[in-house]
Amino acid sequence: MRMTEEVSGEKKKAGLFRKFTERLTATRKTLFGRAADMLRSGRKVDEALLEELEEVLITADVGVETTMHLVGAIREAAKEAKGQSLDEVWLHDTLRGILLETLGQSRSQLAWAPAPPTVFLVVGVNGVGKTTTIAKLAHQFRREGKTALLAAADTFRAAAIDQLEIWAERVGAPIIKGQEGSDPAAVVFDAIRSARSRNLDAVIIDTAGRLHTKTNLMQELGKIGKIAAREIPDAPHETLLVVDASTGQNGLSQAKLFTGVVPISGLILTKLDGTAKGGVVLAVHQQLDLPVKYVGLGEGMEDLEVFDPNLFVEAILPAPAETI
Ligand code: GDP
Ligand code: MG
Repeated sequence: MRMTEEVSGEKKKAGLFRKFTERLTATRKTLFGRAADMLRSGRKVDEALLEELEEVLITADVGVETTMHLVGAIREAAKEAKGQSLDEVWLHDTLRGILLETLGQSRSQLAWAPAPPTVFLVVGVNGVGKTTTIAKLAHQFRREGKTALLAAADTFRAAAIDQLEIWAERVGAPIIKGQEGSDPAAVVFDAIRSARSRNLDAVIIDTAGRLHTKTNLMQELGKIGKIAAREIPDAPHETLLVVDASTGQNGLSQAKLFTGVVPISGLILTKLDGTAKGGVVLAVHQQLDLPVKYVGLGEGMEDLEVFDPNLFVEAILPAPAETI
């Protein structure tokens, strides 16, 4: 029994590693692929290579500040690496250390409330992947043996309510919704009451991201927060900001805007698959003092994974001798 559990744990880890590595291929190629290629042809890490790397990282949306931090750290390490060959293996190992230091090494857990339901408020600009992420979260909770109710508090468009309803059915979660144009806070009120009476573990609140002004957004999210807190004093227990990684530095600016509107407890970075801009994860970490809790690696309900800095770093570093 023990043996099989261990084997299946190892298998799961290997599968996750493969998933991260596969889906982050474009990011890996863009960020450090060229440097690895150059070193493979016999060059060593030198000032010219570092300058080229600097340029690559900035154009790959890592951002100026974060790029300077990373390249500066490699330069320092090179100075101290007396007697070592500054080759591909050296760069790989050095970068691994620097990246892990930038990201921190521990995984960030969700803050579950001591008594159910835990209220998760999901915010972010239109189109970043909020509704899809909510479905993925509900699916994941269910697999962990927890029950979740979805609250369709994006009442701006009927299509948004329909979309959440389709997902609710697919992941087997109950949903509370209102009419198009109805008060989102009223939906939240009903959702929390309903989850409590059914003794469900979580309420996940979908919100509109298409509000025209910051004041508007602040008012709407503020009202939702107030209603939730009136029902459960510590609610919302998590306010998760969804950011589309494929928008790179733009996503980072949006994230900064939101942090000025509501207190954010964590980030979810979506669409890391198929983008070369995954380096924005580094910028987000360095510039916002917020943990990345999950990453979206595809459109399916299985494609949300806990953000594991170790896995992420391994996935974005070309292994020495890897041909990419
Ligand atoms: P919302 O407006 O913030 O609610 O965004 P939606 O959930 O409606 O998602 C917008 C689009 O992004 C949809 O086509 C989703 O399938 C897609 N999407 C969401 N998350 C991911 C992801 O992690 N990877 C990819 N490739 N697409 C995603
Ligand atoms: Mg939506």
